[in-house]
Amino acid sequence: MTLRLSEHGLSRRTLLGGAAALSLASVLPAPFAWAQPLSAGPVMVGAIKVTPLFDGLYPLPLDIVPDAASPAGHELMKKMGAPAAGPIPIPVNAFAVEKAGRLVLIDSGTGAAGGADLGKAAGALAHAGLDRAKVEAIILTHLHVDHAGGAIGADGKAVFPNAELVVQHEEIEFWMDDGIRSRAPQGMDGFFGAARAVLAAYPKRVRAVTGAVELWPGLTAVPEPGHTPGHMGVMIADGVDSLIMWADIMHVGAMQFPHPDWSVLYDVNRTQAAETRARMLDRLTVERTPVMGSHLADRGVIERDGTGYHMVPVPA
Ligand SMILES: [Zn+2]
Repeated sequence: MTLRLSEHGLSRRTLLGGAAALSLASVLPAPFAWAQPLSAGPVMVGAIKVTPLFDGLYPLPLDIVPDAASPAGHELMKKMGAPAAGPIPIPVNAFAVEKAGRLVLIDSGTGAAGGADLGKAAGALAHAGLDRAKVEAIILTHLHVDHAGGAIGADGKAVFPNAELVVQHEEIEFWMDDGIRSRAPQGMDGFFGAARAVLAAYPKRVRAVTGAVELWPGLTAVPEPGHTPGHMGVMIADGVDSLIMWADIMHVGAMQFPHPDWSVLYDVNRTQAAETRARMLDRLTVERTPVMGSHLADRGVIERDGTGYHMVPVPA
């Protein structure tokens, strides 16, 4: 490990840095079966329809998962069929949620900020026959660019004319804090710029929420601090049916299900992120609520597996 980490645990390599400029086609062996978009299609949760919007594959540099530089990590890379030196392509997903003719999004994808391999969520929304002008709200699990960047165009303007942004209050405070920004490593500055650009494009259309509140009918915030201070999952429930979108509890399921204590350098507070991950895994093993994620290729139920966990996919 040669990276120097800040108090926030972020490296100089960020999503806005050189990594995103890598072309996946040039680095991936073919066929690359495990790096698929969310394999499951739309699903009904009671009367709520949830449609995954695949934004693309992000080439995660291997050194973003420091624990992967280990015999166990090398084994997993081999098992995944990933190049030994990385990157690890991880899916980026946003989600459309429809209920009684109304439409909201959970996250918006990367938009123009992530290069050619990303930014496909807008196209996926149109392909699903959904009109961006009908989107009432974009529930942002946090303000990282692969979640919030799609809310604005390359020109920095809002692309959802009638949507409000719904974000945890703490999340906004963190990214808007000039003091924190000035102390953050240089490579992290792009994250601040991207978060602020999104908020600025929706003047008077940002709804800050606090804690485990209802975000929209049937959607409730699940605070998951650590990845970022105001990082949240979204519980979708109608009647006896429920499904949780846990956002960035994990970035590399193939590594973090067996090794839930492995964190990524994008976690603002890696210790807290690992605690939150452990708590969520524990809870969901007991509750057996199906899970989908911003960076999971499957939707499923979580079960214990030795000292770790695995996911049993559930079909649509
Ligand atoms: Zn993410």
